[in-house]
Amino acid sequence: MTTTIVPETSLHQIVQLGNPVLRQIAEPIYSFQDPGLQQLIDELLGTLHRSNGVGLAAPQVGISRRLMIVASHPNARYPHAPKMDPIPMLNPKILHRSHRLVKDWEGCLSVPGIRGLVPRSDAIDMAYTDRTGQRQQQCFTGFVARIVQHEYDHLDGKVFLDRVESSAELITDQEYLKQFA
Ligand code: ZN
Repeated sequence: MTTTIVPETSLHQIVQLGNPVLRQIAEPIYSFQDPGLQQLIDELLGTLHRSNGVGLAAPQVGISRRLMIVASHPNARYPHAPKMDPIPMLNPKILHRSHRLVKDWEGCLSVPGIRGLVPRSDAIDMAYTDRTGQRQQQCFTGFVARIVQHEYDHLDGKVFLDRVESSAELITDQEYLKQFA
């Protein structure tokens, strides 16, 4: 399916930590052919592109629905991110997480200026509905698996700060880019 170019005026503001919507359990999506849903997906893709993010969940634009975009690509915030075609996932479900955990730095568009070391499974099996309404099953590894788990947490009212093991493992964006970029 082609992606519609979304005018700048219909892009969304990203809500920030402290907004109660980020702490809600998001509601499932029932109607996949709804034109409003297709428009929302395009708006999220546009919003993500503008924000230099590698993933975005609907609650981050104030919409408490189980919809998230995974879109790894190298950019100013994540210079070493692998490139992939963006995947909108509706009603995603984690079928299996590898037991092996890897700690790496994460940031979040809803938590500006801060990165934290977060332990995540290094491989996950996901089921989700794609934007055409087809159920999909897919395995993700490495940094992309990390993004998927981060966005999935947003649908359950969690942010990466909840998974950081020590406040000594928090760092500012500025220091992160100085030390690791
Ligand atoms: Zn986030």
